[in-house]
Amino acid sequence: KLEAVVAGLREPRNLGANVTVPYKEAVLPLLDEVDDLARLIGAVNTIVKRDNRLLGFNTDAHGFLEGLRQEGHFDPEGKRVVVLGAGGAARAVCFALVREKVSSLIIINRTPLRAETLAGSLRSYMAEAGLKTDLTTLPGQNVSSGEAFARCHLIVNCTSVGMKHSSQEGKSPFGIEVIPPGVLVYDLVYNPYPTRLLELARKAGANILGGLAMLVYQGAASFELWTGKKAPVDIMLDKARKVLIGGKR
Ligand code: NAP
Repeated sequence: KLEAVVAGLREPRNLGANVTVPYKEAVLPLLDEVDDLARLIGAVNTIVKRDNRLLGFNTDAHGFLEGLRQEGHFDPEGKRVVVLGAGGAARAVCFALVREKVSSLIIINRTPLRAETLAGSLRSYMAEAGLKTDLTTLPGQNVSSGEAFARCHLIVNCTSVGMKHSSQEGKSPFGIEVIPPGVLVYDLVYNPYPTRLLELARKAGANILGGLAMLVYQGAASFELWTGKKAPVDIMLDKARKVLIGGKR
């Protein structure tokens, strides 16, 4: 029903919508215009109706970086990063990381072709923008060897594994034995908190960051696009923590 739902956004009472898993890429052809960053990323998470035209934006990249900086106290410049997944969220995360000049980026995905397509888009962009991140893709089974994680500073889970109310609820995309102590493990999955992955990471001696801050920061940026008003981020963070994770930090 995606097409009908998106068409319904043109009704006068609607300002727009957030788009979530798994429609962020599929929604692009249904829009009248897509902004440069969303077009580059190839995924839209925010639809804004202006003069009865539907415009597509991507605020996930901003939300991801704000979460990383504000809650994770992590500066990505010059760091070695591993990203799991190659869907809409992973695309936003990888573009954000390359723009922030990480020194290396390994993308691991269950479907290798999707990771290679993402790497291809990143390489074209880096060539145009004069950026020099060292880029590698690996098929999904590589998470079990741990080799990819051995020297990294940051691991980002952009797969939906572990998500509440899904067939993967309670599961982790990889085991405790491959998590290096001291690394930061950032799980974009925000419900439940902590996810199984974050529980394992904590046991392994890693630092952990859940997806709630990203959810709030991307939502705040979307709110500003819809309303033209400054979003009350602190109130949003506080409420989201209370509703989703019982006030835990
Ligand atoms: P998507 O486009 O559907 O991509 C899903 C990704 O997960 C793909 O890489 C897929 O691999 C992988 N995957 C799914 N099931 C798997 C499994 N059983 N084993 C291994 N890999 C599996 O979804 P998305 O929009 O990128 O969202 C991904 C996750 O990020 C969701 O949980 C979403 O809630 C979360 N997210 C959170 C925020 C936030 O603000 N915190 C923002 C955006 C997204 P294949 O390519 O092989 O199918």
